[in-house]
Amino acid sequence: MSELPRSQGSHLALTCIGRVLLFVLCFGTKQTAYATDTASTQIKVDQVGYIPASEKIAVITAPAAHFEVRRASDNVTVFQGELGPAAQDADTGDSVQLADFSKLGEPGTYYLSVPGVGRSWTFSIRRDVFSRTYYLAMRAFYGQRCGTAVDLGPEFPEYKHAACHLKGGFHISSGKQGERDNAGGWHDAGDYGRYVVNSGIATGTLLWTWEMFGPKLRGIQLNLPETGNGTPDILNEARWNLEWMLKMQDDDGGAWHKQTSERFPAFVMPEDDHSTSVVVGTGKEPYKSTCATADLAAVAAIAARVYRPYDAEFAARNLKAARKAWLWIEKYPNVTFKNPPGISTGEYGDEYCDDERLWAAAELWRTTGDTKYNEYFVKQYPDFRASLETMTPEDWKDLATMGLWSYAMGARKGSDPELLADIRKRTTQTAQAIVDRTKKNPYHVSLQAKDYVWGSNGVAASYGTELLVANALSPDPAYVATALDNLHYLLGRNTFSLCWVTQVGANPYHHPHHRPSAAGKTPEPWPGMLSGGPNAARQDNVLRNLPRALPPAKIYADDQDSYASNEIAINWQAALVLLLAGTLPVN
Ligand SMILES: [Zn+2]
Repeated sequence: MSELPRSQGSHLALTCIGRVLLFVLCFGTKQTAYATDTASTQIKVDQVGYIPASEKIAVITAPAAHFEVRRASDNVTVFQGELGPAAQDADTGDSVQLADFSKLGEPGTYYLSVPGVGRSWTFSIRRDVFSRTYYLAMRAFYGQRCGTAVDLGPEFPEYKHAACHLKGGFHISSGKQGERDNAGGWHDAGDYGRYVVNSGIATGTLLWTWEMFGPKLRGIQLNLPETGNGTPDILNEARWNLEWMLKMQDDDGGAWHKQTSERFPAFVMPEDDHSTSVVVGTGKEPYKSTCATADLAAVAAIAARVYRPYDAEFAARNLKAARKAWLWIEKYPNVTFKNPPGISTGEYGDEYCDDERLWAAAELWRTTGDTKYNEYFVKQYPDFRASLETMTPEDWKDLATMGLWSYAMGARKGSDPELLADIRKRTTQTAQAIVDRTKKNPYHVSLQAKDYVWGSNGVAASYGTELLVANALSPDPAYVATALDNLHYLLGRNTFSLCWVTQVGANPYHHPHHRPSAAGKTPEPWPGMLSGGPNAARQDNVLRNLPRALPPAKIYADDQDSYASNEIAINWQAALVLLLAGTLPVN
């Protein structure tokens, strides 16, 4: 999370003035360096591609009647069709026609040709078409590792940094003094802070990804330092952050809220940020915060069951931490966090921690079967069931749905049958409403006008994860198809014809708000990272300077200075990983 202006200018921003028009020009200029042919941004495809048996739709935003799909290797037309009727899309201001080539199932690499408009970027049709994107999206977490040297290896030479932020200490607000060995964890976003609350949803989502799709992921090697140790690599990567989260737990069971420097560092490589990384607390008794402690309890409870087959000692350590954290939040049910004097990094403030507690109770019940957690969950349920109907997916501060879904996905002897049925019913009703709405949306994306907020791409990914959870509770191919629609949006079927994952697709974005990408020697940003996406609230100067009349889905800039629309972050990265994992074939 970054909210403050920084000292260094963006290499793109210097050449792009007047934004929207030049925006397109900048992309056009850049793309010639990557593609041997010129594609029209008025033809929007998923630049990664489509699964053979799935629906395949492209979006065209220039008037045309007819389209062809051509094989990239020899330009032979393999499919042709008529475009659908034009529909006006209020969120983008675009007039949209659809090209439906769902019947084309032959694996290969293709592009669309639309007479009078041009050709699209190339894309593939393949059973495992999203495997590479999954690999890169997971490796992006490795790239965010703090407290150790990172090197992406020969595949991405020069994408590396030396060990960083090894020196840790207590900030006065933590209630303690002196040095503290708190190295580890992931850099949260474009900055180098580490925050327990955002770690909670990100790490929890990755562990859920394993629980939901383990058979698809078991054999996927991520080329980590731990690869080959007998533990699946997604769990190896999640453990890096878990170990740090456990270090953030005090002896009394509470967890400090975050560990950052006092203010955001300059745009330097992580090892060149010499500020001390301090453990930050609430500034008064009991110094730890309830939301952070409940998040730790939830994630450690998941870890206790997930790691058991691979490392029983680590699993037991997590269970002990989760139980201890639960006792702490019973004692301190609503200690909230605000930045104490002298600290100006991301706050991740949250006035309400009962939803985090619900999630912790559900995960502890699922792992242990101890009735006290079930009793708490059942008692609290009436306060939270409506959150399954608001059609707003989870984010770092609203975790009730994580608790409700985990209770249902982890149903065990003693789980309340009426609650289980109610959670299933409400979740599937909401999923069906998302499916219906997405079909009507001209871009076939689940986002509504109100969803173009900070991290809207994470909202799109989270609609996908919500649909996959609904599918886990009550299988329905329409849920999976609509989850894929949201992935297609992120990978290029959007108004910018832009792939929002770095170094993926023929026309990816280039300038994330991400310090290692800006400060390093590499021509392209670090690979596999999801941009925050369009944000109608315009909380940075780049967005504020865009034309006032832009519709919400167009308020985005591929500009390093636009932290409110182009920052990367572990929470929406994790939602992307879960969504991608759901699309993979079982090996
Ligand atoms: Zn670091």
